[in-house]
This record gives sequence, C-alpha cells and structure tokens, in this order.
Amino acid sequence: LRNAVHRFFVPTSALQGPFAILTGEQAHQIKRVLRLHPGDRVMLLDNQGSVYEAALVDYLPDGIRFQVESQKPATGEPATHLTLCQAALKGERFEWVLQKGTEIGVSRFVPIICARNVVDDLRAIAQKRARWERIILEATEQCGRGRLPELTDPQPFTDAIAANPFAAERSRAQESLVAQPPALRLIAWEELRNSPQGESRLATALRARNLRVGMRIQVFVGPEGGFTAAEIDLAHHHGLEPVSLGPRTLRAETAGVVVAAAILYEVGEI
Ligand code: SAM
Repeated sequence: LRNAVHRFFVPTSALQGPFAILTGEQAHQIKRVLRLHPGDRVMLLDNQGSVYEAALVDYLPDGIRFQVESQKPATGEPATHLTLCQAALKGERFEWVLQKGTEIGVSRFVPIICARNVVDDLRAIAQKRARWERIILEATEQCGRGRLPELTDPQPFTDAIAANPFAAERSRAQESLVAQPPALRLIAWEELRNSPQGESRLATALRARNLRVGMRIQVFVGPEGGFTAAEIDLAHHHGLEPVSLGPRTLRAETAGVVVAAAILYEVGEI
C-alpha cells in the first residue's frame, strides 16, 4: 500500500501555505492503515480542479504534516456534465449506482421519488446522505477524479422533471453573455424496449444530436416498478425524450450505470 499513490480531498484552507496538516479520519487512515513514513508522497485535491503533490514531513500530536511540493490541474474530470436522476433504491443498490456512476464520470446525482418507488420516504433517504457522500468521496479518490460529484437532496419526480437544471444555468449564462453549452434531457423508459430495432434507442437519440464534449446532459431512471404512464406524459410535457436501453429489462441500478456509461461513451469521455 505504501507504493500506491494515495489521494485525499482537503479543504482549500489547508493548502494555503508550504505545509498541509491532515487530521481526523484521514490522519487515522494514513497512520494506522497506510502506515506512511516521512518522505512518502500523497496527492492532495482541493475539489476546485487542482491536485497538489505533497510529501509526509512528520507526525504531530494532532495531525500529520505534509510539505506541499507542486500544484497542477487535476485530471480525470469529464468535460461533459452528466446529471443522473435515479429513483432511490433499497439497500446497497443505490450505493452501487453512486460508486459506479462516480467512477465512470457522473457529475451530479439526484435521488428521486417516483410513484412506484419502494423507498419513498424523503426523510429516511435524506438520513443516508452522510453515508452516500462518503461512498462518493472514496470512489472519487480511488478513480483519480479531481472533483467530487454533487449529491443533491432527494426530490419528488414531479419536482425534478419540472426543474430544468440547465434553464437556470442558461439564464445566468445569458446574463454574463457566455454561450451555454447545449443541453439534452432524456428519460429511460422500459416500455420502449419492444420498439422496433433502432427506433427510440438511446444510440439513435444521441446520434441525432451533434453531441460533443462539454455538453450538459440529464437522464432519468425509474424505480423497481418502473415509470407510470403519467410520469412519462409529464416528462414529454417538459420536453424530455423517452429512450430505450435495448430489448432487455435492466434492473434499475443496472440501467442507471449503463445509461450513464453509454452517454459518456457517445460524447467521447470513455
Ligand atoms: N417496470 C419494469 C418491470 O418491473 O419489469 C422494470 C423497471 S426497471 C427495473 C427500472 C428502470 O430502469 C426503468 O424505469 C427504466 O428507467 C430503466 N430501464 C430498465 N430497462 C430498460 C430498457 N430496456 N429501456 C429503457 N429503460 C429501462
């Protein structure tokens, strides 16, 4: 473990001077698990897009001091901003989506409550936030990304589908007269799996657009019981295009990771 390059997100305040002091859980992991010695190097990430190479100097009574040696842009971040609005799922299934989605490059996770959710208690879901954020943190450090994907509060489907996240960004961009990268909103609908070959397939929908790196894309994936016809109508009303993920019925967690990977592949991030 000592030879691996270990990465830690630290507050930008810890990176102001020539030394960075790591404390708490990170210090425990470095001392007790990784057993790093003076001179061993780590990568410190500021979650603002930079990574700092640092060498362990010494163990202090209340932390571990590192000498910050270099700063460079953090790699591993996709230029395409993908928002995965995934129905909250029972047990570890949603956690699996967070971990795998982080590894492949999802930038924002929105847990949603649909009509057929098995897990439908907003409060109960919100209580998992600390655990879910830790899963995202560990996956981000493990896979070498430079920024932590965002995890929003859980939202009812009807709110999430109506709140076009790109509209707010577009108005801000128009104020600053900055060209807003094109956006695309999709919903994966299992009832389309029997549609004729090619028609309404995700690949067809993506290739119909001039996809390119830097786009802002949002995709919805339903719960164990799938989307209701009313939810699909509401999605249509808000301009979302239902797409098929092929003729097989995927488990919700499989669909979330597959659709995210397929979109990121199509725009050249994988
Ligand atoms: N209602 C279906 C059933 O019970 O057999 C399955 C729902 S599926 C487990 C959960 C979600 O995954 C769906 O709402 C949809 O978003 C997505 N999904 C699964 N397979 C899909 C497919 N072949 N095409 C499009 N979406 C799919």
